[in-house]
Amino acid sequence: MKTIHLFANWKMYLGYDESNILANALIGEVRKMPPAINIALFPSALSLYSIALNLKETDIAVGAQNAYWLDKGGYTGEVSVGMFKEVGCRYVLIGHSERRHVFHETNLEVRKKVEAAFAEKIMPVVCVGETKEERNAGKTEEVVEVQLRAAFEDLNLPSDTRFIIAYEPVWAIGTGDACDPKEAERIHKEIAKITKSLLSDVNFSILYGGSVRAENVADYLAGSHTDGVLIGNASAKLDTFKGIMDKAAQFAAK
Ligand code: PEP
Repeated sequence: MKTIHLFANWKMYLGYDESNILANALIGEVRKMPPAINIALFPSALSLYSIALNLKETDIAVGAQNAYWLDKGGYTGEVSVGMFKEVGCRYVLIGHSERRHVFHETNLEVRKKVEAAFAEKIMPVVCVGETKEERNAGKTEEVVEVQLRAAFEDLNLPSDTRFIIAYEPVWAIGTGDACDPKEAERIHKEIAKITKSLLSDVNFSILYGGSVRAENVADYLAGSHTDGVLIGNASAKLDTFKGIMDKAAQFAAK
């Protein structure tokens, strides 16, 4: 059975208390999950340290939603990859659609963050995906390839390197308009082909993200190039996240 990643991006949905309460409530729920399920929480930077401490002895991992590529210095408001690693982060989201489209993060900045993550040995979760206009213009594969090339081309990585790519069509994020699971799987296959052509001898997993719910999660997990899901809205409430976890556990038990 493949490992199934359920990654919870809490964005800026939850305050400090709310984040800690939800993380606490998840400890008992995650204990009931089969070993094939790997759960990671991506709380706000403010809540992350106390959650990482609290989850230290559990199987729940913690990741950062974003990070700066330089280590230390006069960069007001930023937090470096190394600083997140120091407080217990195993993962860092890089190039999330909201970073790219709300904060105008470029492919070059994504690349610098990817390099910093590999240098710090924190696992990057590199997000790629097209806008509605790009999809309608038939440019989905082209856009995804440009994003993957920018992130990974010519990197010299040790052969035991592991990382994660999340395919998150921009139009599916936070809209309820989830990508058809067969179409997501088709793009994942393409992502796998491109990534293998850019980097040999590396291990990567591919996640789908965009309006994942309990009702559709199993359809995504069924894809042979799909290793899990990145969940925003539905991961920020106990009942909806638990619904997704239960469906993933049922899928894993098949
Ligand atoms: C996300 O922001 O990564 C995401 C997938 O959001 P949502 O599940 O709310 O569409």
